[in-house]
Amino acid sequence: MSLSRQIHLDFHCSEKIPEIGSQFSKKDFQETLKQAKVNAINLFAKCHHSWSYYPTQVGQMHPNLNFDLLGEQIEACREMGIATHIYFTVGWSANDAEAHPQWCARNRNGDFIINGMDEGAGSSAVDDYSTGAGALPHFYWKFLCLNSPYHRLIVEQVKELCQSYRVNGFWFDIYQVHRLCFCNNCQKSLKDQGVDPEDTAAHEAFQVSFIRAHCQELSELIHGFMPEASVFFNGTTALESGANFRHTMYAENTNQDLEDLPTTWGGYDKLPMQSKFFLNAGYSITAMSGKFHTDWGEFGGFKHPDALRFEAASMIAFGAQCNFGDQLHPDGHIDHSTYEHIGQAYAYVEQIEAYGIGGKPIARLGVWRSFDEQADEGLCKLLMEEQVDFDIANFSQDFSEYSVLILPSQARLSEVVVSKIESFIGKGGAVILMGKALLNFSQKTQASAFAVNYRGPASHDCDYTKVRSAPESFFVKSPFLNYEPAEQVE
Ligand SMILES: [Zn+2]
Repeated sequence: MSLSRQIHLDFHCSEKIPEIGSQFSKKDFQETLKQAKVNAINLFAKCHHSWSYYPTQVGQMHPNLNFDLLGEQIEACREMGIATHIYFTVGWSANDAEAHPQWCARNRNGDFIINGMDEGAGSSAVDDYSTGAGALPHFYWKFLCLNSPYHRLIVEQVKELCQSYRVNGFWFDIYQVHRLCFCNNCQKSLKDQGVDPEDTAAHEAFQVSFIRAHCQELSELIHGFMPEASVFFNGTTALESGANFRHTMYAENTNQDLEDLPTTWGGYDKLPMQSKFFLNAGYSITAMSGKFHTDWGEFGGFKHPDALRFEAASMIAFGAQCNFGDQLHPDGHIDHSTYEHIGQAYAYVEQIEAYGIGGKPIARLGVWRSFDEQADEGLCKLLMEEQVDFDIANFSQDFSEYSVLILPSQARLSEVVVSKIESFIGKGGAVILMGKALLNFSQKTQASAFAVNYRGPASHDCDYTKVRSAPESFFVKSPFLNYEPAEQVE
């Protein structure tokens, strides 16, 4: 069953908000989702404030909720044939962090690792708020460390959910392996394993090991109860310094959700490369966007229905299932305008989804993904502006499916890949190198295959291009400025 038309129904409710879920109507919830042609939804079990939205013996139910909201939502969806995924936050959990500071991730100075701001500025911003001198920062979540008893708490809470509900999948949030943790537990583990905490690569590998073990334990637990359930760990498909891709942190996911919200932090240039990469890696994919413009928690913000339709159609064109983020009002009522708009987009998706989802990208032009965000996306943007289709070549055995291979400027290739490319050239394949990608090859190959001699890095902070015998159609005849200088070759 293709879960082509999904909703991520955000629901992070502070304890200061009264009457949680008091206006929830099962009938209205069902009719609204049905009208919008939704066929799958992420529903909240536990939010960033640590509150659970169901009766629990091993967690804390929201103090202002007096019924099983999660259970009623799951039941409502089951009756309508809508697939349900349980949302459960891990990396941020405010009350767990306050109650157990020893479970919190720490930087090398021993300060909390806080989202979205440098730690020093974060602490002072909160101090300012406490004394009335400043506004509370837009974001303020302490990261928790899974190399602590917190992991066991999560396992027990997920086990309770598995015992209580039958769902189609689990959606765990906030995994950021690249943020190195120096908490007491991690310092001790690193010492026991003889790892220097300042050896970034070794420290990262250590962190990968316990986060991966955590993900594997949750997957096994869930599949013990629900063998067919999808399991996804959000954050593991994001670029984030490349750590996710260096360590294939996404390997524990049964489906790859791409939370690259285009108008929030993703931009419209992320999905083409992300989708082609993960489809080639053999996964089903879900592209996420928001019904809102800025960020999660934007109540009352609306994209124009045409924008939603465009985004949804792009997702299908790039082989992805669609997921639009919305937030349920804390009182539990679902917003009708939102679903009228999403419904217009999803009515169109219903007509075209069979032609796109899970499609295999095929093109004669292969792009090597370097995992340098700027270099990769710049290259993809250039190709898309020229309407040149491309594939991601990283999973190719010998590049024989391509006529042309392009390497972005920050590509750093292993000897094996260099050798494969040289062999591809030997068989008549064409290779276009951007900037420093040339430096992956020996001087001999540079001269023989690319007919250049490398003279060294740029000598100035910008340079100029003068096109010899430019065609008449070329719009500049005089030297024009390059904002960044090129490598020097002749
Ligand atoms: Zn730690």
